[in-house]
Amino acid sequence: MAFDGSARSLWAWGTVDRFPDEAARRRLAGMARMLTGGAEAALLPLPRDDDARVPPARVSPPPALAALASTDPHDRALHAHGRAYPDLVRGFRGDFAAAPDLVLRPASADAVAACLDWCAGARVACVPYGGGTSVVGGVEVAADRRGDFAGVACLDLERLDGLREVDLVSLAVRAGAGTRGPALERALAEHGLTLRHYPQSFEHSTLGGWIATRAGGHFATGPTHIDDFVEAITAVTPRGVVATRRLPASGAGPAPERLWIGSEGALGVITEAWMRVQKKPRFRAAASVKFRKTLDGATAARALAQSGLRPANCRLLDPAECLLHQVALDGTAVLLVGFESVDHDQGPALARALELCRDHGGVVASGPTVSDDGDGAAALGGGAGEAATWKKAFVDAPYLQSALVSIGVMADTFETSCTWDRFETFHAAVTAAAQDALKRTVGGGLVSCRFTHVYPDGPAPYYTFIGPARVGDELAVWREVKAAVSEARHVNGGTITHHPAVGRTHRPWYDRERPALFGDVLRAAKRELDPAGVLNPGVLVD
Ligand SMILES: Cc1cc2nc3c(=O)[nH]c(=O)nc-3n(C[C@H](O)[C@H](O)[C@H](O)COP(=O)(O)OP(=O)(O)OC[C@H]3O[C@@H](n4cnc5c(N)ncnc54)[C@H](O)[C@@H]3O)c2cc1C
Repeated sequence: MAFDGSARSLWAWGTVDRFPDEAARRRLAGMARMLTGGAEAALLPLPRDDDARVPPARVSPPPALAALASTDPHDRALHAHGRAYPDLVRGFRGDFAAAPDLVLRPASADAVAACLDWCAGARVACVPYGGGTSVVGGVEVAADRRGDFAGVACLDLERLDGLREVDLVSLAVRAGAGTRGPALERALAEHGLTLRHYPQSFEHSTLGGWIATRAGGHFATGPTHIDDFVEAITAVTPRGVVATRRLPASGAGPAPERLWIGSEGALGVITEAWMRVQKKPRFRAAASVKFRKTLDGATAARALAQSGLRPANCRLLDPAECLLHQVALDGTAVLLVGFESVDHDQGPALARALELCRDHGGVVASGPTVSDDGDGAAALGGGAGEAATWKKAFVDAPYLQSALVSIGVMADTFETSCTWDRFETFHAAVTAAAQDALKRTVGGGLVSCRFTHVYPDGPAPYYTFIGPARVGDELAVWREVKAAVSEARHVNGGTITHHPAVGRTHRPWYDRERPALFGDVLRAAKRELDPAGVLNPGVLVD
């Protein structure tokens, strides 16, 4: 199958036409040399789709499912990996050994049930697949588990899409699980509504994927996690259908829908959901504030998080992060602050927020800008100056990561959260672990940090590390760095993941983080819902 310009790349983030061209890759190589302390970065030849190595399929679809099934090697390769750094590297090398044996595309809940029936009966592992943007090995059965099954089926939910019902009185909508971010927001915009959930992967990820991974959107406070928006879900399990009741809130025992929020395809297939939506905000106010010390910026962010002001944006960038995104080059840390509302002027809230920042040594660098019909720029950080620069960098970052792979540079991120009382020692330990691991493996590199979210009791720090890749041995290096930073997060009291889920990559640390008895409860739920153990084996529990 040939790609046209807007087709999804077989190995890189996003679509083929958005992959940086040769001139952009050359510029990036120059910048990478600067960031990694002068290490060489060379343009490697780009892979060709025809060179993708896909193993022969081990199973064929039964006649009853033939109309939903594809065994085309290119289609299977497209569904082999998520989009984490090791996925990009393997794809770049043409290594699609992890490709599923077939791709099933059910268009109804009944068809999902038929797929699950066949998988359970034929002992075929079944991996629910939304947009395939997992960064934790969530859509790939591990090589050492594949032999336990007659085959692996990818259950691509793209046909379960679209806005199905709008309740303008309660401000809630019913939508198919396979609906991607842009399609959902376009459909909601026709009613003047928004879900207001923007993960960085928004362009290609799906509603069902967000729910299954407990995704985090990019507003710093207030409703931003997908958990906040789910009103009710419908999930098809090998034991039958679960449809929870639409309620604004309930005290009736543990909430049933919560079992599937974060279930990562291990407990059933989410086919649709009722989601709480909002009218589109129109009042906005934003500014950026510089701090000479990152820790002063952190104290200001804490003051904002505990003030009751609830800024939509409260994103602290440390000096390395500012350099990386060209937001500030003078060695300062920058706090991007933004507010928005559907109902009232945000100027007074911003004014009070800036007072708090000044109390902690902040100097306003740009803004305040206040508007009552903004174009959405404040959603991710305001419409001008540092905030606008940062927003563009944020949207382009996934494309740049793929381009870095193509010039022999390792670039990846990890994120977490911890309580404010331990932040200073936590941050120092995690940063040191990342820097030590880079030094040990590739001679050094850059480690940066920003806050993606701030809560009254703690921040969600998000780290980026960049270093020269040892071409041919990239995966071993990455595994060593990843293990070091995961261990540091765990032993210093943080979580192994604040938003992109557990998957297979984070399992060893998740197993240690969750209470043992809770692990037993999850295993019991898995046994009850998926007695044949075919649903996404290896994620969450065994
Ligand atoms: C560049 C980049 C940026 C990212 N930024 C963010 C971010 O800001 N916030 C964030 O939270 N995450 C982020 N992620 C991670 C990822 O995008 C999220 O985990 C996202 O929610 C996955 O959605 P998806 O539709 O792509 O799901 P997939 O990747 O297809 O699947 C993810 C997991 O969910 C399961 N699953 C998918 N759909 C269903 C369903 N309908 N029913 C049951 N199980 C299902 C899969 O089996 C798998 O375990 C990012 C990833 C990338 C590559």
